[in-house]
Amino acid sequence: MTRTRTYLDCNASAPLRAEARAAMLAALDVVGNPSSVHGEGRAARAIVESAREAVARLVNARPSEVVFTSGATEANDAVMAAGWDTIFASGIEHDSVLAPAARSGAELATIAVTTNGVADLASVAERLGDGASKRVLLSLMAANNETGIIQPLEEAAALAREHGVALHVDAVQAPGRIAVDFSGLGAAALTLSAHKLGGPRGVGALIVRDGVELPALIVGGGQERRRRGGTECVAGIAGFGAAADAIVREQGAARRMAAMRAKLEDGVKATTPGALIIGDDARRIANTSCIALPGKAAETMVIKLDLEGVAVSAGSACSSGKVGTSHVLEAMGLAPEIARSAIRVSLGSDTQDEDIAAFLAAWEKVSGAAAVAA
Ligand code: PMP
Repeated sequence: MTRTRTYLDCNASAPLRAEARAAMLAALDVVGNPSSVHGEGRAARAIVESAREAVARLVNARPSEVVFTSGATEANDAVMAAGWDTIFASGIEHDSVLAPAARSGAELATIAVTTNGVADLASVAERLGDGASKRVLLSLMAANNETGIIQPLEEAAALAREHGVALHVDAVQAPGRIAVDFSGLGAAALTLSAHKLGGPRGVGALIVRDGVELPALIVGGGQERRRRGGTECVAGIAGFGAAADAIVREQGAARRMAAMRAKLEDGVKATTPGALIIGDDARRIANTSCIALPGKAAETMVIKLDLEGVAVSAGSACSSGKVGTSHVLEAMGLAPEIARSAIRVSLGSDTQDEDIAAFLAAWEKVSGAAAVAA
């Protein structure tokens, strides 16, 4: 079968892994409610608990620390709404951190970002004070969804420990790309989304360190140890667990993606010498390339590439139809004409060399490079 589409938008949503699909199909035929005591209920419970173990293994947490949610947005929202006096968050956090933080009533202390897209924690140390007298949260993502730039989590963890404040890590873009060690960091909370790692959309997890009390996300039934009421999405959770297991087992995926991304970026620079790779001098997760071609509006490029059969996004196009300047690129201090032209190309574990070739052929066509060369 000849392929007609090239999907390079895995940071928005990654293709379902085969292991996740198989686990979900099997779970759909398990009839019981995980809270029921009979055999059918126990079979459903076993699926949920084995997925909990897999998700815990993925980030080195304990299974008892994993709360399944409808996704990372719900999990981030719950962390931000947990009654903090002050929330320190970088300007490049996802909207699902920034919006509930702004609504929470906490004092919002923005962490500046250097021009190469890294949160500037040195500027935070003196503002943190002694967390003992106040409820203070420091929220930092593992890697940015738009640029792929890796954030200084170890440094944030050291600061949080030193000042006695709670650390939250939005680790949505990390699995399969960089390791995140929840227990090692000593974080209070960490958030994950199944569909970014090859599981289904609509499932995620809030990892809360044992002993840390956060208000229940949903009250009602006593599910998830009274932390989130509601009958569990058994098939979705099964898919999440299987995807997490697949990542723990897979070898060399990040290395393969890094090699393909290098080819892609070299090709872009050769075709359009005026193109900028945002963050190419910073540490980045291996799958993400944020490319700006000043003078070409990102939305137009995305539509043209789509017509050529290539799916990428403009800035963070997680929310449908979102158009406008990216707050991430703005926080990095990029000139508006650069920010407005930035597209995001994000590879997945099943991306092949032919996808890169298809992208580069389409890029040459839509960037106007072919016309210039002719
Ligand atoms: N945080 C980051 C960094 C993300 O990229 C996303 C998804 N775009 C989310 C949170 C939200 O995840 P979900 O889609 O599971 O709500």
